[in-house]
Amino acid sequence: MAAAILVPLFFIGLPLGLILFAGAAITYVMHRNNLVIPNRGVLTKAHLARLRARLTGKPMDSGERGPVVGVGRDIIFMGMDDLPIRLPAANEAQRRGVQEVERIFFDAIVRHATVVGVLMRGGKAQVRLRVAGQVISGGDPEGPVAEQIPAALKRLAGLSPEETRKPQKGRLRAVGGGQTFELRVKTQGSVQGERIAVRIIDLAGSRMALGDLGLSEEQVQALSEALAKRPGIVLVSAPKNSGLTTTLHACLRHFDRYINTVVAFEPHVDLEVENVQHIALSQEDGASAAEAVRGQLRLAPDVVAADSLSSPEVAAVLAEASRQQTVLVCLRASDAGQALSRLLALVPSPEALAAGLWLVVNQRLVRDLCPVCKEAYRPNPEFLRKANLASQRVDVLYRPPKSIAVEKGKPVICPRCNNVRYAGRTGLFELMAIDDEARAMIGRGANVADIRAHARKKGMRNLQEEGLALVIAGRTSIEEVLRAVKQT
Ligand SMILES: [Zn+2]
Repeated sequence: MAAAILVPLFFIGLPLGLILFAGAAITYVMHRNNLVIPNRGVLTKAHLARLRARLTGKPMDSGERGPVVGVGRDIIFMGMDDLPIRLPAANEAQRRGVQEVERIFFDAIVRHATVVGVLMRGGKAQVRLRVAGQVISGGDPEGPVAEQIPAALKRLAGLSPEETRKPQKGRLRAVGGGQTFELRVKTQGSVQGERIAVRIIDLAGSRMALGDLGLSEEQVQALSEALAKRPGIVLVSAPKNSGLTTTLHACLRHFDRYINTVVAFEPHVDLEVENVQHIALSQEDGASAAEAVRGQLRLAPDVVAADSLSSPEVAAVLAEASRQQTVLVCLRASDAGQALSRLLALVPSPEALAAGLWLVVNQRLVRDLCPVCKEAYRPNPEFLRKANLASQRVDVLYRPPKSIAVEKGKPVICPRCNNVRYAGRTGLFELMAIDDEARAMIGRGANVADIRAHARKKGMRNLQEEGLALVIAGRTSIEEVLRAVKQT
């Protein structure tokens, strides 16, 4: 009897139950997907692709990947002991203040900012980032969150949050995008309001060797050989903010510093290379700077380096030293030819200097395209012809995405680059070898353009050519190489 009633009910009840369940589930999924940022939606194509990849263990191809927000956007603040800092928040405003500081610094790190400035003005926090020498906005948060920013930063740097007028200095570390940075915090009251400046120092750059800079294998070989000459001079140059100090330090690291005594004169000593004596040297008063350098040379170091050489008096002392020692000179210039003419103009006898000069290097920093959101395109044949690439098989080149994808009215945020479209940087180098003929040309006062033409004839590749090689390899875009090469 019971079966007679239940069996028909079961066959009606099951589909009815399923319809009710599925209806509720679909309503929930739609409601949820509307609330979250687009790429965190469930049961979407991208979500199913991620699930399939996780279950089968196979990596997704890039078409299926779809950015995931929240992954890799984290930043962790640490003390100088490398232990994470835990800031207890007394209230919601404090907690959001720390979150805002995290947002600001994550943004600064993916943009490769070197300085973050915060000016408190009329209840607003004006956040400015210095990126490649230019100042850009990092947002102008307002209200209770903005008011918490200075206190949160000061607490992170171990400073007194109550002190808003007197200058304070502190340090901390941050890990973001897989790299470690040192943050040097300075706070001070001003007429307009409290000011905070944070210098961001990439600690990875402080450990780079010649092979990590972006030099090609032949370039590493040529630079190593030039650095090994004793006596001799190697000249390294770049425009401002183009990674010159990182290259100088990588060169210093190339010497065996247990056998050799290495001394480096720098305008500011921010980072030190182990077993190198770093000496802060201001060249404004050339005579006294030259005296300081001469004093160190009396101790007969094996290698002497000078960053940002600008004083003729110091240049004369270094030219003298290059008859016995290995001398490494850095100065600001926009190509190897200009670097050579600037150095020659600083020394009393170009001929004597040329005797020991082996190599002139010029460099730029180019940003790597973000591997997640870069966009492939077919290059225009006319462009390939102009760039002397018609003979090479170049099917695709890459560029930054033209526009930010929008799903359901919300921008899709790239997890790797935070929509900056570039992630990471590499050096771009041109090396001008100085051979006997070039030395003779310098001796007779030849035009630097002719010396460069001679080097080009001997196989020197210029910045544009080296940059194009990076474009063909898919690492960066044409626009980025042009931007970098144009810097002066
Ligand atoms: Zn990206």
